[in-house]
Amino acid sequence: MEKNVLIVGTGLAGITAALRLSKLGYRVEMVEKYHQAGGRLNQLRKDGFTWDIGPSFFSMSYEFDEFFKFCGIDPPFEFVELDPLYTVRFRGKEKKYTIYKDLDRLAEQFREVEPDFRKRMDKLLKSAGRFFHDTEDRVIKKNYNSLMHWLTTLATVPMVHLPKLIRTVWQELDRHFESEEVKQIFSLVAFFLGATPYDTPGVYTLLTYTELVHDGYHNVKGGMYKIVEGLMKEIDKAGITVHYHTEITGYKEENGNLRQLIDQNGNTWDADIFVINSDAAGFRHAVFERKKFTEQKLDRMKWTLAPFTMYLGVKGKIEGLEHHNYFLGDNFEDYANKIFKNSITLDKPYYYVNVNSRSNPDMAPEGHENLFVLCPVPDLRYKPDWSDREELAGNIIDDLSEQVGYDIRSNLVSNTIYDPVDWGKAFNLYKGSGLGLAHDLNQIGYFRPKNRDEEYRNVFYTGASTIPGTGLPMAVISSKLVTERITGTYGSL
Ligand SMILES: Cc1cc2nc3c(=O)[nH]c(=O)nc-3n(C[C@H](O)[C@H](O)[C@H](O)COP(=O)(O)OP(=O)(O)OC[C@H]3O[C@@H](n4cnc5c(N)ncnc54)[C@H](O)[C@@H]3O)c2cc1C
Repeated sequence: MEKNVLIVGTGLAGITAALRLSKLGYRVEMVEKYHQAGGRLNQLRKDGFTWDIGPSFFSMSYEFDEFFKFCGIDPPFEFVELDPLYTVRFRGKEKKYTIYKDLDRLAEQFREVEPDFRKRMDKLLKSAGRFFHDTEDRVIKKNYNSLMHWLTTLATVPMVHLPKLIRTVWQELDRHFESEEVKQIFSLVAFFLGATPYDTPGVYTLLTYTELVHDGYHNVKGGMYKIVEGLMKEIDKAGITVHYHTEITGYKEENGNLRQLIDQNGNTWDADIFVINSDAAGFRHAVFERKKFTEQKLDRMKWTLAPFTMYLGVKGKIEGLEHHNYFLGDNFEDYANKIFKNSITLDKPYYYVNVNSRSNPDMAPEGHENLFVLCPVPDLRYKPDWSDREELAGNIIDDLSEQVGYDIRSNLVSNTIYDPVDWGKAFNLYKGSGLGLAHDLNQIGYFRPKNRDEEYRNVFYTGASTIPGTGLPMAVISSKLVTERITGTYGSL
């Protein structure tokens, strides 16, 4: 018998879940509070410029290939492999480090500060790679039905990796390298997970292996939003209707099943099965009002850093910038340790700059660049008031101008800021946290909010705050895991 599925949210996990379920014969419909699809993987168009507002590159591109194969569709967008991956500068220092995939070229970058770089990096990559391959299929891409299932799965991971669970990313790098520059640069992977290297388990050095060796990083020809545009064409072809400006705020239940969801205007949405792509912890708190997900309980959980982002249109070509650039200060440990608790001062920010128009000239008017700036900041628990946002924005513009030797302020023709309040409101991100729940050992696998509801048999979750975790490839895997859950209950139709 045909089953109707309502998906709440058109983030990457929601869209890919919709296409997978539709392929299996489910009749899918979607609701979305924002005015267009994509969730955090979204786009801003203004003053003749186009910006990707969030993600700018991704790893594990083969997860998209698995998804295309599953759905029987041709890739509707084109990957571009990054090499070099990115550049890193330290405030007050002349040297710009370029992170190449070729390890000999990379070693050359660090010749003066870490003469044995190649040998040391080989050793790190060997151990990180082994951990990655020992866990990717065995632990990460799995649904867990019980604590015992989680523990017995973990028990299959070779004991040799145990110390990585106890050490932090920083401690793991510190064992391999002497140079502060090397340690700081390769610990940036912790920030990609929305945390710092001093509080992220050492196992995540596996990301250094994925960036340098395994599949590297990719972006998309024409900008990252091409992913969404391409997938939405497939949504259209599959006959899936999407209702925008529709925020789910209430519900009706019946005999242990969810009967209806209710939107902000009081309209009711019926289905046999509901898939929630809204934050898996935030939705249980805000809509289902669950005791295990009260504000006090959520506030005690560990959330990833909040984004402070700027979308700048600049006249002229800024020679000192590449496609992906990191700008670090001169007080790394102190900064990282304070960033979560709002004891950072806004005058010496650490930030990332992406210039998409460098490889996609259509994204800016001729003779201009479109700059995307991302500065990780404390979430709204620690800094609820962003009335001082212009101060941080101004400091970043001045610092960037100095570091790249180009007067950005005088050449600024378009300037938009999204602070954590804006991000939180736009996509219902809990307290503005950018990547959702953090990936500490007590918040992954069996301990992450589950992709099957605790109370309603017909409610499921997909996305960054349920399993397996945050980032674009994880969103695609999450849609696969929720599809397996649903077919495990209802079968393929
Ligand atoms: C600034 C920034 C930079 C990033 N950079 C990268 C990167 O370079 N590489 C990478 O891999 N990842 C990156 N990420 C992470 C990545 O964007 C996310 O992990 C991923 O997009 C999450 O997808 P999702 O489907 O889980 O959720 P979302 O994208 O959040 O989608 C959920 C959708 O549900 C909608 N919604 C929420 N509540 C309701 C409701 N009640 N009713 C109706 N609709 C609702 C939201 O509006 C949203 O559209 C970045 C994130 C941010 C914020």
